[in-house]
Amino acid sequence: MSDCIFCKIAKGEIPTDFVYQDESVMVFKDINPQAPTHLLVIPKRHIVSAAEVDDLSVWANLMGRAVEVAKRLNLDTPGFRMVINTGEQGGQTVSHLHLHLLSGRHFGWPPG
Ligand code: AMP
Ligand code: ZN
Repeated sequence: MSDCIFCKIAKGEIPTDFVYQDESVMVFKDINPQAPTHLLVIPKRHIVSAAEVDDLSVWANLMGRAVEVAKRLNLDTPGFRMVINTGEQGGQTVSHLHLHLLSGRHFGWPPG
């Protein structure tokens, strides 16, 4: 999608501090971090939200790579949180599916 900021990042049209990419997934630093480590994991293909996923392999790639990156960065011992805001009430502000990978501080429950 031409006017989607995350599609532009996925295509390399916007310089981004990325930590991992392969043919289907990209992982980069959130521009407004909410924790000492705050990464975004996105499918390179434009998918509006979690509710629009049409192929289970999207989840395998997204979640699989997220956990892989978390372990490679040694986030699994202190712990980490993965969040997918979905839709307006779910708090989604960018309409391209993304998984937040957060770590480096204690996270409360319930979320705000
Ligand atoms: P959400 O509110 O769940 O849709 O999350 C969108 C996230 O994208 C927010 O945490 C923003 O800080 C982040 N974000 C928006 N634009 C950029 C960008 N150009 N580079 C990195 N992160 C971004
Ligand atoms: Zn997009």
